[in-house]
Parts: sequence; structure tokens; C-alpha cells
Amino acid sequence: MLHIDLGAVRENYRRLKERLGATRCAGVVKADAYGLGAVQVAKALAREGCDTFFVAHAGEGLALRAVLGREPAIYVLNGTAPGAEAEAAAAGLTTVANSLEQLAAWRAAARKLDRKLPAALQVDSGMSRLGMMPSEVETLAADAGLLDGLDVKLVMSHLACADEPEHPANALQKKNFDRLRAMLPAAPVSLANSSGIFLGTDYHYDLARPGAALYGINPTPGHANPMREVVRLEAKVIQIRTLEGDIGVGYGHTYRTAGPLRAATISLGYADGWHRRAAAGAYFNGVRLPFIGRVSMDSIIIDISALPEEALKAGDLVELIGSHQAVDDVAGHAGTIGYEVLTGLGHRFHRIYE
Ligand code: PLP
Repeated sequence: MLHIDLGAVRENYRRLKERLGATRCAGVVKADAYGLGAVQVAKALAREGCDTFFVAHAGEGLALRAVLGREPAIYVLNGTAPGAEAEAAAAGLTTVANSLEQLAAWRAAARKLDRKLPAALQVDSGMSRLGMMPSEVETLAADAGLLDGLDVKLVMSHLACADEPEHPANALQKKNFDRLRAMLPAAPVSLANSSGIFLGTDYHYDLARPGAALYGINPTPGHANPMREVVRLEAKVIQIRTLEGDIGVGYGHTYRTAGPLRAATISLGYADGWHRRAAAGAYFNGVRLPFIGRVSMDSIIIDISALPEEALKAGDLVELIGSHQAVDDVAGHAGTIGYEVLTGLGHRFHRIYE
């Protein structure tokens, strides 16, 4: 059972907006809003006044457009794939041009449709992932015709190390960004993701693009999480039994009982996105119940000896993510990041939006 607290998403949006002051705040809802449901999340954010959304693929944008109506701006971060321009344009999506080549394809679509199309220009200020290289920006600056038929809505870039405030790359990227954007036509400007918002007002510009912080992931690692937890994940107990001493448990018998032990098997496994390496624990009535043996595809065995006998029954729910164990904690156990935990959560859970 995956509980998604849309009230907490809205509260997180309000907290970010408060920090941003006059800067506008978009919602990054790519990858199905980090696995939590783009439609539900975007609708909740729209109720808070959010009118700008970012997705990665045009297909995600089309799905969102169908439920949000014509008004909100929907930016396609990876750019519109070749051949999909007409459909994206018809749906009023704003492509993020990451190269002169993508820009040319969008320009061609505008010419064909004989109308202006909205575009964002992404420049690579130092992440070396997506965006026009400085030489491409210079080419663009020298030839206004390259923007023919396009309505430049945003000039943007993305930070590589915003979650490490002391990292010298942050100031360097900001400097590069300022230099590159000054060469381009005047348009609203955007640099900060969730962590970028916490680097200070210098990084805010006109529009911030948070994703993770909306979903409760800590944008300030190493400090208390300023966001509210959004996700609660529970799994059902499917079987309870007492295991004898000195027997192997689970695949590979990686765990052996030291003595008799009460165990429960819960209905959740790596096919649900629970990393095999995330040897965390489950919680019941605040008591930690450690995993024993390996995580299977659809089940995990937990040691319930810490609970009074009969306290836990088949059919009861134990908590895997929630008040005792945040998404970031689970990520820590698995040696990964909260983003991967959330986007990896499978679709077998019954989802409850609160
Ligand atoms: N902007 C861009 C270009 C991104 O790729 C992402 C996510 O990876 C975001 C904004 C949102 O970042 P975060 O989830 O760290 O807030």
C-alpha cells in the first residue's frame, strides 16, 4: 500500500514558494512525478497556483496536457524527439532546445505550421549533460535568424552540484550561465532545482524548477530536512512462523538463525522497487523489525521477535517508508539516492492519495 500525501506535496510547494519570494516556482513532474503520479501531483500543484510544469519526454507532456487543460506551460526537458514536433506543437508544449539541431527541428515545425512556437533555450553552464555548448550559444547570438518563428519563453541551465553548497562548481556554473544568457535574447531565466533554491537568492532568477523537494526528498543533505515527508509505504504480512535454531533463511541461506526465532514474511520485494541491498527494517507500532535473509522478488522475511507474541498477525501491515524511516534513509541503506528509490517503486502497490 503506497500512501501519497498530496497535502504534503502542496505544503512543500508553499514552503519553497515562501523561500523564493518573487521568483516563480514550477513543478518538475517528469518520470510520472518521480513515480508518485504526474496527473495527481500536477493537479494538486495547480491548486496551489503552479502554472508551469517540466517533463522529460513529449509523451509525458501530452498526457499532462490532456488533464490540465490549455493554460499551464509544459516544458519538455529532453527536447521533442524528431518526428514528434507536430503533435507536441499541437498540444502547446514548449520544447527545451538543447542543441542547435533541436532548435532547427523546432524552427522547421514552426515554419510548417506557419505560426510561432514556444521554446526554451537550455545552455550548458558546466554540467556537460544537456544544453547548448558555449560555441553553439555564440553561433546563436550571431544569427538572429536561428530563432525565426520561435517565441523564447525561457533561458535555462541545470546545476550539477547544487546538493553540495560548498562545491566550487556552483559559483562557476552561475558565472558561466550569466555570461551565456547575456548573449541570448532577453527572456525569463531559470537555474535552480530543489537544492539550488537553498544555495541562496543569487541562484533563484525568475523561475525555479524543483522536483525532489516537492516529494519530500531532503534538498539540503547533511542538514534537517526542511520538507514534509510525502510517502508512506506499507506491506502486508502474508505468513508468520517460528523458525528453529541454526537453520538457513531465504535464498543462498545468507542468514542462519542463532536460536528459535519468530519470523514474518511480507508481501513486497525487489520487483516492487525495493533494492536487494536495502537491508533496512520494517516497523510495527514503532518497533523495528530487521530483515533477515535476502530480499526476494515478491517477499521479504523479517524477524519479529522484538514484538510481544500474537502482536502481529497475517494480514497486518508493516511500514517500510514513513515516520520511522524516510525515503532518504532507505536510499542510504541501498547506497543510492532518494530519487532512485521513489522512481523505482513499482506499480503493484495499491496507491492511496491523501
Ligand atoms: N531541472 C532539470 C533540468 C532536471 O533535470 C531536474 C531533475 O533532474 C530538475 C530540474 C529537478 O531537480 P530536483 O529533483 O533535484 O529538484
